[in-house]
Amino acid sequence: MLRVAIDGPGGTGKSTIAKAVAERFGIEYIDTGAMYRSIALKSVREGVSADDVAAVEEMLRSTDIDFKDGKVWLDGEDVGGLIRTNEISMAASNISKLPCVRANVDELSKRLASTKDVVMEGRDIGTAVIPDAEVKIFMTADPDVRAKRRYDQLIEQGKEADLEKIAKEIRERDYQDSHRELNPLKQADDAVFLDSTNMTIEENIDAVADIINNAM
Ligand code: C5P
Repeated sequence: MLRVAIDGPGGTGKSTIAKAVAERFGIEYIDTGAMYRSIALKSVREGVSADDVAAVEEMLRSTDIDFKDGKVWLDGEDVGGLIRTNEISMAASNISKLPCVRANVDELSKRLASTKDVVMEGRDIGTAVIPDAEVKIFMTADPDVRAKRRYDQLIEQGKEADLEKIAKEIRERDYQDSHRELNPLKQADDAVFLDSTNMTIEENIDAVADIINNAM
C-alpha cells in the first residue's frame, strides 16, 4: 500500500501539491480540510456556534459528509466552490477543535485510507489519522510568504484582497490549530520536514515526489 500523509499549516500550497502528486502517482487525493470546512459551512448556514457543543452534536446527527470523485459533498451538495473563503477558514479552525467534529471526520478519513492508495492532506494525518502511513511529510513555509501566495491567488481570480488581513488570519489559524488540545497541528516524529518558502510549485511537487520515491 502507498499512503502518503501530508500535514502542515494553512496556505502552504499543500492542496495544490498533494493533488499534483496524487495525479503523478495515479492514486487518490483526499483533502481532509475540505471536510472540516464543509461542517463549518453548515454551522454558519444554520447559525450553530462552535461554542455550543450540544447544538453541534445535534447538527452532526443529520449531516452527511462524503468525499468522492475528488470532491467533498455536504448532504449530497457539492460545496467545493463555497468553502474557500476567509470566513469559512476561521469557522473550520474553530469547529475542528470539538471532539465530536474530529471523530466524525476521522472516521471517514480512516475509512477512505483503508481501501486504497492515497495522498491525504491535513493537520493530523501523520500523527492521528494514518499513523502507520508509508510516507509522511510535514510541509511548511514562512507565514509572510504564505500570505503573499494567498494574496496573489485572490488577485489573479479578480477578487479583493488585503495582504495585512490575510497575514493576520494565517497567524491566528496557525496558533489555534497548533495549540488545540485534540490532535493539534504537529510534525510526526517520523515525518520528513519540507520547507517550501523558496520553492516554486513545480520544485515543491518534485521534492514531494522524490521523498515518495526514496521511501518506496
Ligand atoms: O487545510 P485547510 O486550510 O483546508 O483546513 C481548514 C481547517 O480545518 C484548519 O485550519 C484546521 O483547523 C482544520 N483541519 C484539522 N485537521 C485536518 C485538516 C484540517 O483540524 N486534518
